[in-house]
Amino acid sequence: MAKIQMKTPLVEMDGDEMTRIIWKWIKDELLLPFVDLKTVYFDLGLENREKTKDQVTLDASYAAKEYGVSVKCATITPNQQRVEEYGLSEMWKSPNGTIRAILDGTVFRAPILLPFIHPAVRNWKRPITIARHAYGDIYKATEYRVPGKGKAELVFTKENGETSFRKTVYDFECPGVLQGSFNKDASIESFARSCFTYALNTKQDLWFSTKDTISKQYDQTFKFIFQDIYDREFRTAFEKAGLTYFYTLIDDAVARVIRSEGGFIWALKNYDGDVMSDMVSTAFGSLAMMTSVLVSPDGKFEYEAAHGTVTQHYYRYRKGESTSTNPMATIFAWSGALRKRGELDGLNDLVGFADRLEQACISVLNTGTMTKDLVPLCDATVEPKPVTTEQFLAAIRAKL
Ligand code: NAP
Ligand code: MG
Repeated sequence: MAKIQMKTPLVEMDGDEMTRIIWKWIKDELLLPFVDLKTVYFDLGLENREKTKDQVTLDASYAAKEYGVSVKCATITPNQQRVEEYGLSEMWKSPNGTIRAILDGTVFRAPILLPFIHPAVRNWKRPITIARHAYGDIYKATEYRVPGKGKAELVFTKENGETSFRKTVYDFECPGVLQGSFNKDASIESFARSCFTYALNTKQDLWFSTKDTISKQYDQTFKFIFQDIYDREFRTAFEKAGLTYFYTLIDDAVARVIRSEGGFIWALKNYDGDVMSDMVSTAFGSLAMMTSVLVSPDGKFEYEAAHGTVTQHYYRYRKGESTSTNPMATIFAWSGALRKRGELDGLNDLVGFADRLEQACISVLNTGTMTKDLVPLCDATVEPKPVTTEQFLAAIRAKL
């Protein structure tokens, strides 16, 4: 067959360890034989981040903003042990943090479902996508241990030095704890726009929940900003697409989510999203089957797997052993990016290829051919045949 043509290139960000190995295998086996792949390549592997003093991450982020669609391999976020292992001159920042700051985006995580792996919650039939506001609140809070008796106050001083309010938080009669947290309208607005944009793009309802009944200024601000942006910028498009935006108190949302069939996006404040995304992804079965996409308020998309670089598998691979690392989330990052690029450029063949690639993966899994991590999750309708990553990719290629 003639290779499927692309118009605009994807921004490609290579990464580290086992996922870097799988990245190349996916390209060689599943993409390059079929697609005339056009990418603008950035090597975000830790060695190159060190060599370029992390400039490569900045360059990649600006390219992601310019071109609009990117695909990223998992990368190491250095800690002290990595500084020693790689002889780093600095503990470079998390690449995902840098990209997110430059795109001003929100991360959406969604599981890949299989008919023979059942979520821990029996009635979940369709994916639940979690959108976490990754800015502010307790993650940027200032906190103290209160040593003993005394007054804690909340004070705001204007730019010109005037105090515009002073409120007593608590008159301490004994030791305790104290915390001041904040958020910004601009960040909440970006979060809201990313959520509404992604809901329209994926044709799913959007739910949003906070504790606004208790937090009458802080959480209510989130509720009002979402409602205002919905009414002014998105209501017409939502109604036309037959979609709903639904706000409810977080306690009520939790109950409704558990009773639901899935098939919607659940937007959450920073801490709620941190906790709920781990709960929901665990309930769906496997981190290796979790996809992730960063969406900016102005509609730029960066696709990746939700898992890390699978270090332990890489150490075994380096010793010459073959591993059974699950490539699904990384393949779906590529298919997601190719589909989006195809939609934006009006390339039906490219969109069709992304669909077929995903279908080929699902078909192979349905025959029982799978990586080892999935075997313990299967029900009795399938007879699992565990294979290595390379055998799994070969089976997908044959199917494709
Ligand atoms: P991880 O790489 O996600 O791996 C944690 C464990 O989950 C693995 O040891 C493996 O369990 C299992 N697992 C994850 N993905 C799998 C897959 N595709 N197939 C099979 N099993 C899989 O998380 P980590 O060990 O905490 O982090 C490793 C490195 O990744 C760190 O340097 C971290 O900074 C980085 N990281 C990057 C990203 C990102 O770029 N988005 C995200 C998270 C972490 P078994 O060993 O039991 O098989
Ligand atoms: Mg967490």
